[in-house]
Amino acid sequence: MSVFASGADSGLAWEELKKRVENCSSCGLCSTRKKTVFGQGSATSPIVFVGEGPGADEDEQGIPFVGRAGKLLTRILQSVGIERENVFITNVVKCRPPQNRTPMADEMMACTPFLEAQLALLRPKIVVCLGNTPAKWLLKSSEGISALRGRWFSWRGIDLFPMFHPSYLLRNESKKKGSPKDLTWQDINALRSKLDDLTKGGPSA
Ligand code: SF4
Repeated sequence: MSVFASGADSGLAWEELKKRVENCSSCGLCSTRKKTVFGQGSATSPIVFVGEGPGADEDEQGIPFVGRAGKLLTRILQSVGIERENVFITNVVKCRPPQNRTPMADEMMACTPFLEAQLALLRPKIVVCLGNTPAKWLLKSSEGISALRGRWFSWRGIDLFPMFHPSYLLRNESKKKGSPKDLTWQDINALRSKLDDLTKGGPSA
């Protein structure tokens, strides 16, 4: 499936893309979703966060990262002065996998053109992958998030930065040195520094 008109990356307007997602039945997840979750945030943000897929709260509301993990993400961003409404947040798949299972490869394959179209229209300077699934999927890596997090990758000319998913942090409360929370604190500060370097003189988050 391609969402681009005759290869022109910028051919689809944002609103049309949203409608395509709302009406999409390109994979089996359409039969169990309540709402599609297109994404939320600033269309001029230099940074886009990509999670795995909607959970139960997101499926109900049609908004990404609104549950406990979403609230933690908001606090993590605020800790380095980034307001959530100033970034764009989305997922690899736009419909909730039943029982919050990991999306299957064919589902991610079917949905990735939407993410690619979003990124082509948003043209961010940085993509942050939250958790194992988006990091491994976009980087086509066999390494897990523990090995990938905190490292900068070049992905289609964009700086890509994997971090732990906030739901993983909710399951790992320790703040000891080397703990997921401690490493995330290092990562969010590295992200802030990179953002400052890249946006000097331009729009900032
Ligand atoms: Fe379409 Fe993506 Fe939803 Fe599958 S997950 S039905 S490809 S919008």
